[in-house]
Amino acid sequence: MQVFKFGGASVKDAAGVSNLAHIVKQFAHEQLIVVVSAMGKTTNGLEKLAKAYFYQTDNIQELYEEIKQYHFSIMHELFDSSSPVFDEIANTFVEIDWMLEDEPQDSFDFIYDQLVSIGELLSTRIVNAYLQQAGIASQWLDIRGYIHTDNSYREGVVDWDKTCQVIQKDIPALLQKGLVVTQGFLGGTSENFTTTLGREGSDYTASIIASCLQAESVTTWKDVSGVLNADPKLFADTIKFDSLSYNEAMEMTYYGATVIHPKTIKPLQNTGIPLLVKPFNNPDAPGTIISEVSVQQYDKPIIIVKRNQVLLSIAAKDHSFISENHLSFVYNLFAKNQVKINVLQTSALSLSVCFDYQDMRFEPLLQQLTTSFKVKYNQHLTLLTLRHYQPNTIHELTSGKTVLLEQLSRNTAQLVMIEM
Ligand code: ASP
Ligand code: MG
Repeated sequence: MQVFKFGGASVKDAAGVSNLAHIVKQFAHEQLIVVVSAMGKTTNGLEKLAKAYFYQTDNIQELYEEIKQYHFSIMHELFDSSSPVFDEIANTFVEIDWMLEDEPQDSFDFIYDQLVSIGELLSTRIVNAYLQQAGIASQWLDIRGYIHTDNSYREGVVDWDKTCQVIQKDIPALLQKGLVVTQGFLGGTSENFTTTLGREGSDYTASIIASCLQAESVTTWKDVSGVLNADPKLFADTIKFDSLSYNEAMEMTYYGATVIHPKTIKPLQNTGIPLLVKPFNNPDAPGTIISEVSVQQYDKPIIIVKRNQVLLSIAAKDHSFISENHLSFVYNLFAKNQVKINVLQTSALSLSVCFDYQDMRFEPLLQQLTTSFKVKYNQHLTLLTLRHYQPNTIHELTSGKTVLLEQLSRNTAQLVMIEM
């Protein structure tokens, strides 16, 4: 049994959906679970809609219509207008209609999950209907009844025991009847509310399902030839890795490589399931295999660029030294506000932290910090991480730029600098 994951870029238009069917068809006689993300940039669109609704701005309908139009235009290319999928999708939108009619009562994170999750419910219904139309035995599964999480909205924490139990109970029987198409990124609470697993979390979904069922492998189909040493949109002359170790892949995602979601690797490593990263426009190409062993020479460094960073410095109001107590207090505040620290550096009198700017989280965090500390910060920065670097690579990549913070270890260099 195998698990395939198709991200938003792979199903961004009708041609993408038909390409997915073309790939899946070759595995139609094997046991296959297909995890699908929201189409194209739908999640970004839904995020905007969630904000507009929460703040009751006047563009709610406009944003909503755009998402509807986008899906219906893809469907008109894929299906005859008599297809039952049109009703199914219309009904899926009705769930949102009801919500948008009323004024928001709940927390932003809760609203976000109930609204944004619609992206995957739409994409999987469309993909499933298309596979059936193509003569492939395919079944739609609502993953929210399988991936059980707590109620940390937007960052659902998976209850592994419960999740694996229901997955093992039901899914093998379903796979006897045909392949299973289901949503990435979503989970459900014990009270049947929808949660999401964090942006780009569909890889993690594939990894959860695979490890519960002890799958042969997980394949994530991408718009690149495999895992590259750097983002090809930012750097020329990238190289593709044929293989990578779980540990290296985990390090890369930890530092912000977006090719795989950070939580994906660990469950696969624990169960010894390889992760294949393959190009959806060239399905026979080998891609990259991530597994326990890798004979990897790093002829070129791995370069990870994270934009939109904040560098914030904290000093005690009474000019005292930075102590362990300050550190744990600051760490707790960050954790409480669900802001992950990317780099941390201490000096005698100050503590500097670099993290992703998130507009709904930054202001509250800042407010809480300033009640106890003197705080200074810079925004719109770039965090550059180099793995297996040479001194000259640092030179090349930072020349002409202002570096605000630098941290070097034997394998990893991190530099916070003013936007490239
Ligand atoms: N659609 C979600 C997102 O864009 C999940 C995913 O793509 O993995 O964040
Ligand atoms: Mg996506």
